[in-house]
Amino acid sequence: MSTADPRALDPTGPALRALLAEVTEYVAHVIERMPTAPASDTGGVAELLSDPAVRRPPPDRGRPLAELLEVVDRVGTKGLNTASPGYLAFIPGSGVLAAALADLVSDVLNRYTGVAFAAPGLVALEADVLAWLARLFALPETTAGLVTTGASLATLSALITARWAKLGEDFLDGTIYVTDQTHRSVAKAARLCGFPDRAIHGVPVDADLRMEPAGLRAAIAADRVAGKRPCCVVASAGTINTGVVDPLPELADIAAAEGLWLHVDAAYGGFFQLTERGRQRLRGIERADSLVLDAHKGLFLPFGTGCLLVREGDLLREAHSGPHAEYLQDIVATELPSFADYGPELTRDTRGLRLWLPLHLHGVDTFRAALDEKLDLAEYAYRELSADPALEVFGPPELSTVAFRCRAGDEVTMEVVARVNAEQRVFMSSTRVDDRYTGRICVLNHRTTRERIEYTVEAIRRHTATTLSPLEGELE
Ligand SMILES: *Cc1c(COP(=O)(O)O)cnc(C)c1O
Repeated sequence: MSTADPRALDPTGPALRALLAEVTEYVAHVIERMPTAPASDTGGVAELLSDPAVRRPPPDRGRPLAELLEVVDRVGTKGLNTASPGYLAFIPGSGVLAAALADLVSDVLNRYTGVAFAAPGLVALEADVLAWLARLFALPETTAGLVTTGASLATLSALITARWAKLGEDFLDGTIYVTDQTHRSVAKAARLCGFPDRAIHGVPVDADLRMEPAGLRAAIAADRVAGKRPCCVVASAGTINTGVVDPLPELADIAAAEGLWLHVDAAYGGFFQLTERGRQRLRGIERADSLVLDAHKGLFLPFGTGCLLVREGDLLREAHSGPHAEYLQDIVATELPSFADYGPELTRDTRGLRLWLPLHLHGVDTFRAALDEKLDLAEYAYRELSADPALEVFGPPELSTVAFRCRAGDEVTMEVVARVNAEQRVFMSSTRVDDRYTGRICVLNHRTTRERIEYTVEAIRRHTATTLSPLEGELE
C-alpha cells in the first residue's frame, strides 16, 4: 500500500494557484525571449539525450514543478525553433497564446465532444467555427466539417468520402489525379484508405508548376479507355515547393464534366482567403467537394489543428459512421453534429475551442492583417532577391513562399542555405525543382516581421557573394 495521498491529484487553494502561477511565469518567459532565441539549435543533442537527469522513469515520489519545467526547457529548446520569428522552413506554424489558453481551459473542463449530447454547448461552438469557415469559402449550407489534428488526417477523411461517394466498396480500379507538386500526404492518405499505389495518376505541370488542365483531361480519357474508374482530382491551393495555386476554375470544370470529386488541398494556402489578395488567388476554391486547411499554419495556431470541409456533409457522415453499438444506446440524437460520426475518432479533445477562443478574442481582422503582412513580406523578399543578378527566383509569389537558386549551381545554393542557417537567426529549408537544389523561404509565422525578412534577404545575398568569391568575402 502506498502512503501517498491520492487527493494530491486534484490540488486546490494556494497549492493550485502556485502551480498555475509557475506555469504562467514560464510561459511568459518563453514568449518574451522568442525574438532573440535561435531559430535552430541542433548542438549538444547527443549529450542531452544521454543525460540520466533528463531521461529517467517516473519516480514513486513526485518532484517539484520548477525542476520539471527546467527539464522541459532544456529539451524543448533543441532542434528547430518552429515558433521563432526566424523560422521560414517548410510551412511554418507558430502558436498564438490564445489557443494555448483555450487548451488549458478545455482540458480542465474535459468535456466529451465526440457526441453532441454529451457536450452540446462546446460542440455548438465548434460547429459555429466550422460553419463560419464554410461561409468563408462560399460553400453551401449542406457543408459539414471536422476539426482534425492536421491536414493529413483531414485528407484521409476526404479521400475516404470521395471513395465512398464515387466508387463504393469495390474501389481498386479507381484513380486519383495529382501532380509531382502535390503534398505527399495525399498519396499516403490514398494508401491508408486502401487504394493501391497504382491508383495515383501523375498529371503534368506547366512552366509555373501548376497542374495542366489539358493533361488532366488526357489522363482521365486514357484511364477510361484502360477500364479504370476515375474518382478524384486533387488540386493544390498553395503547393509546398513554390506556393503556387493550381488553376482551380479549370480543374473544377473538368471534375464537374467528368463526374469526379474535386478535393482541394488548401492546408498551406487556405486561410489567405481571409485577405483580398488571397481571395483572388484562390478563386474557384468554392467549387471544392472537399477542402482541407491547416489552422496550425495559416491561422498561426499550435500544431495539431487541421480542418476538413465537405460540401455534401451527409456523405462525410455516411462514409465515417460505424456500425451500431449497443453501449451507445443512451446517446440522444440532437440537431448538432456528433463529431464521432464525421471522422475516425470516437473520444476526442475539445479541439474547437482552440479555434474559437483566438478568433473571438482577437477578432478576424487581426488574423486578416497578419496574413496580409505575410503576403507583403514575401513580395518584399521576392523583389529584393530577384534584384540580385546572381540569383534566380521563382515568382512573383502567389502566396507567401519564395523559392530561389544561385545561378552558379546547386553546390552554391546548398552552401548559401547552410551558411545562412548557421547564423541561427533564421532557418530555411530546401527542395528540388526540375531536379535542381532550390532554397525556399516561407513566411507564415505571426511573429515574423519586416526586420527579420530584411535580415534574411541580406544574409542570402551576402552569403551568395562570399560563396562565389571567398577572398572578397574575407576582405570585407
Ligand atoms: C502541411 C501540408 C500538408 C500536411 O498537413 P499536416 O498538418 O502536416 O498533416 C498537406 N498539404 C500541404 C500543402 C501542406 O502544406
